[in-house]
Amino acid sequence: MSERLIALIVCLLAVGAVALAAPRANPAANPKGRPAVSEKTATIQKVEKTDAEWQEQLTPEQYRVLRKQGTERAFTGKYHDHHEKGTYVCAACGLPVFSSVTKFESGTGWPSFWQPIAPGNVETERDWGLGLPRTEVHCARCGGHLGHVFEDGPPPTGLRYCINSVSLGFEKGK
Ligand code: FE
Repeated sequence: MSERLIALIVCLLAVGAVALAAPRANPAANPKGRPAVSEKTATIQKVEKTDAEWQEQLTPEQYRVLRKQGTERAFTGKYHDHHEKGTYVCAACGLPVFSSVTKFESGTGWPSFWQPIAPGNVETERDWGLGLPRTEVHCARCGGHLGHVFEDGPPPTGLRYCINSVSLGFEKGK
């Protein structure tokens, strides 16, 4: 084998390794639309509590959804049919996570948003809980499970953040 051929093979292997190591696209980190609302999130101080502390602070249903990645039954939550102007916050730590400005009627029975209130306030992670790949959405401050994000939402982002009401609190807008 010629030296040139060997060099070419080594080069192709290196490119392949880099491609495999590249992180998966994160829809939340790269919204197609411009943010309609934003909140300053220079540094988010993480909130860390023990499982026992969360259990004591949260209701059993909040604990099941926020800390154990549960899902509330569709059409049973407080906010799927809620239309007031204001800010939705993480029920566990109070961090603003979504605005009523980006809420839309998805017909799913869960409050749905096309964008978080600020890109850094929610984080996403691949979830294989049902055996199928989904993108789990959690609070960037306390790690509380909020719901999932799907790529069948409305413009301008095309994203649908499908969020459990029980993971949210609401602060009325001025
Ligand atoms: Fe939180």
